[in-house]
Amino acid sequence: MTSSDRTVVVAVVDTARCTGCGWCVPACPWQLLSLRTGAAPQWKKTSVLSDPGACPGCRRCVPRCLFGALSMQPRPADDPGPPVSP
Ligand code: SF4
Ligand code: SF4
Repeated sequence: MTSSDRTVVVAVVDTARCTGCGWCVPACPWQLLSLRTGAAPQWKKTSVLSDPGACPGCRRCVPRCLFGALSMQPRPADDPGPPVSP
């Protein structure tokens, strides 16, 4: 397998912009996104990518976010990521 067989981008949540609406959660076919409640006193809910190394970079979650909190970013060099989706 060559480097071109690996995904080069990964979904990233901007927690400052995230409202916790949850719209992105069902958009991920791999169930990698979920809502998490932050600490007191705000108890702010945000979306969390549970396993960035498993995200194939399909981008399906990005257009579901109406708040500009989801984007695709270059994958860190030390994270090869999963193989490209068929
Ligand atoms: S890019 Fe695709 S696999 Fe990754 S979190 Fe978004 S919907 Fe899930
Ligand atoms: S759709 Fe956007 S604002 Fe809503 S939970 Fe997901 S990342 Fe946060």
